Amino acid sequence: MPKLKQLADKIKVCKKCRLSKKRINAVPGEGDSKAKLMFIGEAPGAKEDETGKPFIGMAGVFLDSLLKKYKIKRKNIFITSIVKCRPPDNRDPKQDEIKACKYFLNKQIKLIKPKIIVLLGDVVLRALLNEKKVSQFHGDIFIKNKIKYIPTFHPAAGMRFPRIRKLMEDDFKIIKKNG
Ligand code: URA
Ligand code: SF4
Repeated sequence: MPKLKQLADKIKVCKKCRLSKKRINAVPGEGDSKAKLMFIGEAPGAKEDETGKPFIGMAGVFLDSLLKKYKIKRKNIFITSIVKCRPPDNRDPKQDEIKACKYFLNKQIKLIKPKIIVLLGDVVLRALLNEKKVSQFHGDIFIKNKIKYIPTFHPAAGMRFPRIRKLMEDDFKIIKKNG
């Protein structure tokens, strides 16, 4: 069995943190196992929890519209999140949950070996680069282990605020240019 699939099977039965208690489905992530471009969100929401698929709710629809605008095919990228199970009431994931789950994300990054990783929102930026604010760092390129990390806003914010959508579009131009 491909290693990424093996890992997904482990995620689906994982009980390493309290988020396992209320989930319906863990959401390991999905896409091309050899993707050059990887997107990392914060945590599954209600729809994702129901289906086990990443970014299929409203934020996902908005993300799809940006991908389409910049001619990025969803089947050619890999999309996942820093925790794989839905936090109750969509609260932010806690530090110990992020820590418990990080092994899976690190392993996915090692197996996929993307050229660029897009970080979607403050919580993700903090978890992976230890920086606080997307509003300060969005569109910047951080190089770590030869991978370019590019922070942008969470799609749920881009969806609500036209000003943020515009900034996300600028970031997507940078992502395209570096891809
Ligand atoms: N936010 C995420 O990080 N992942 C999803 O699947 C949906 C919203
Ligand atoms: Fe396991 Fe991650 Fe789900 Fe916690 S969030 S139960 S560590 S898969």
